[in-house]
Amino acid sequence: MLNIVLFGPPGAGKGTQSERLIDKYNLVHLSTGDIFRYNIKNGTELGNMAKSFIDKGELVPDEVTISMLQSEVEKNEGAKGFIFDGFPRTTDQAEALDMFLSSRNTAVTAMLALEVPEEELVTRLLERGKTSGRKDDADETVIRNRIKVYENETAILQNYFEQQNKYHGIDGVGDIDEITNRLCSVIDSL
Ligand code: AMP
Repeated sequence: MLNIVLFGPPGAGKGTQSERLIDKYNLVHLSTGDIFRYNIKNGTELGNMAKSFIDKGELVPDEVTISMLQSEVEKNEGAKGFIFDGFPRTTDQAEALDMFLSSRNTAVTAMLALEVPEEELVTRLLERGKTSGRKDDADETVIRNRIKVYENETAILQNYFEQQNKYHGIDGVGDIDEITNRLCSVIDSL
């Protein structure tokens, strides 16, 4: 199986690039943010619980996020592999993913990290907020909080995957096609 963790701060382009990679490599795209938003839209219990965290730009608690992710993987028996987009975001989530995949006789193949400077992220997210309908993209304070949460809780995962020799940093600035090509050349070398 090819299991890619597509990593990077909010606004780095994970969703856009995931859409391209799933077609090329025939993978299942699992975006925890998208799954939460789907649940919010449909007024599920999970959605109602997650909404208060998401609207503030805070992380949804690990326990909830991990079990949600696991059940999404289980729904896709027979998948050739996955792109994990927006997961893991904490060390506990990374450890849970490793344990869960290993119980299924597979593993994370690589973490591909899109690197984009903070001011560019803010500009991109404010621009996206004009059309995305996402409350957390519309307010600069929430955007900056999401980036801060990323730096405080999520960026540390670079070390986690470096220790496993699975970390690949990729320049996330430039033309969308060019960035896709950078990602593909890393994937093709795995
Ligand atoms: P995203 O679409 O990846 O930008 O995620 C939007 C929001 O969903 C985040 O700001 C968090 O509130 C929540 N979220 C998404 N993925 C996770 C995760 N792995 N752990 C905790 N919260 C998450």
